[in-house]
Amino acid sequence: MAVYNHFKGIPELPELPNLKKKRPKVMAIVDEDNCTGCQACVPFCPVDCIEPVPIEKYGSPIPPVQVRFDECIGCQVCARVCTKLTWDAIRIMKTDLFEELYQIKID
Ligand code: SF4
Ligand code: SF4
Repeated sequence: MAVYNHFKGIPELPELPNLKKKRPKVMAIVDEDNCTGCQACVPFCPVDCIEPVPIEKYGSPIPPVQVRFDECIGCQVCARVCTKLTWDAIRIMKTDLFEELYQIKID
C-alpha cells in the first residue's frame, strides 16, 4: 500500500541561524490579519528573523508573527511552510516594491 508523504515539499529545518550577506530581490511580509500566531514558520527561517508582534499591538494572548524586514534574505521558506503546514499568511514581495510602498531602504 502506498503511504502518502504529508511532509513532501516542506523545507528542512536549519541547523544554525545564518546572517544576511546581500540585499535580497524579494522579501517576506506577514499578513497579520490572517496569521494565526501558530509560529510553525519560526524555526524554519534560516536567519531567525520571524518573531511574534508585541502583545500590546493586538491585546491577543497569541499574537501574529512579523518579519524583521532588515534581516530577511527572501528565501521564501516561511511562505512555503505556512502554506503547506498551516494557513498561507505570508506574502512574498519584490524588494523594490517594498521600498517604494513603505519608504524604507533595504541594504
Ligand atoms: S506559519 Fe503562518 S499562520 Fe503560523 S505563525 Fe507563521 S505566518 Fe502565522
Ligand atoms: S523569506 Fe521568510 S524564512 Fe526566508 S529569511 Fe525571510 S522571513 Fe526568513
